[in-house]
Amino acid sequence: MTATHSAPKPIVGIVGLTGCAGDQLVVLNCERELLDLAQLVDLREFPMASSNGAEGVALDIAFVEGAVVSQRDEDVLHGVRERARTLVALGTCAAWGGVAALDRLFDRDQLVRDVYGDAGAAFDTRPARSVRDVVAVEYVIPGCPIERDELLQAIAHLLQGNPPLPRDVPVCAECRMRESNCLLMERGVICCGPVTVGGCNARCPAVGTPCIGCRGPSPDANLPAALAAFAEQGIIQDEARRRLELFAAIPISRTEEPA
Ligand code: SF4
Ligand code: SF4
Repeated sequence: MTATHSAPKPIVGIVGLTGCAGDQLVVLNCERELLDLAQLVDLREFPMASSNGAEGVALDIAFVEGAVVSQRDEDVLHGVRERARTLVALGTCAAWGGVAALDRLFDRDQLVRDVYGDAGAAFDTRPARSVRDVVAVEYVIPGCPIERDELLQAIAHLLQGNPPLPRDVPVCAECRMRESNCLLMERGVICCGPVTVGGCNARCPAVGTPCIGCRGPSPDANLPAALAAFAEQGIIQDEARRRLELFAAIPISRTEEPA
């Protein structure tokens, strides 16, 4: 009788840099699916969940959460990049810098002095960057935190050797599909839905709360058009711009590029 050999499971690692660990928590919150996942992948490295992981192993898929704000983060990230065949930036900090990268709007050295005084000079801290500012990534799953269903769908695609489905519609499109009232047009409040990538099913506007852009910009985000729409509602431009850039510096549309 011939022995049958099952295909080896993909070796997976989930690594956190500097962040709130909310995306890793979403992974742990997939309670109903975790046992099935454990049958499908060899989860070798997940320090938030287990201190018994085998750090430093070659990975088929690495999920990396958080922003790069220190030399330590950078070293960890380069190490993961070298070991991983596929690297997925997990969450808006990894994709865009997230709230950590708000430091781009300030004098960072002054911020460090204000918070830590003279002791701050000795800390391992540097301007926040996204994971994909530092290394090449194959895929991005945005969100603050990520959406559980989007994560599971992406894992299913990756395990079949396919890329995760790209998200390209803005939150506004999902808001319209839900037939929610438009907070911008009807209440004249700043809502980042027009320039934020969908995938959350317009959760916030559906309960009467404006979108604050936590998933980062949609691929075709048109900042000038959004600012013009806000101006029509009497919203102050500086305030609108600050809100739009809370989680990411939004690329200016090609319409504003010099000819
Ligand atoms: S409420 Fe916000 S997300 Fe919904 S349609 Fe209006 S601007 Fe777009
Ligand atoms: S509606 Fe906007 S702020 Fe709310 S979860 Fe979606 S992207 Fe984030």
